[in-house]
Amino acid sequence: MKNSGVCPKCQSTDIKINSLGSWGNMTAGNFYRCTTCGFTEIWSGKGHQRDMKILIGVSIGGCIIALGMLVYFVMNS
Ligand SMILES: [Zn+2]
Repeated sequence: MKNSGVCPKCQSTDIKINSLGSWGNMTAGNFYRCTTCGFTEIWSGKGHQRDMKILIGVSIGGCIIALGMLVYFVMNS
């Protein structure tokens, strides 16, 4: 329904899109609701979740490098 824009239940093209829980410009997901029969599809924002994991991974990696540098300076002092 998201890609075709057609309701799989009644073949209506009258689809309404609603955003679900957004923080700033980040969206948790979208509701695709057929206004004719009420059929609803929910699409979660998987792309945003992956971006957040990458961001967390980078910050943890940065902490390990900082800790390693601290140990290096202590050992050489
Ligand atoms: Zn429908």
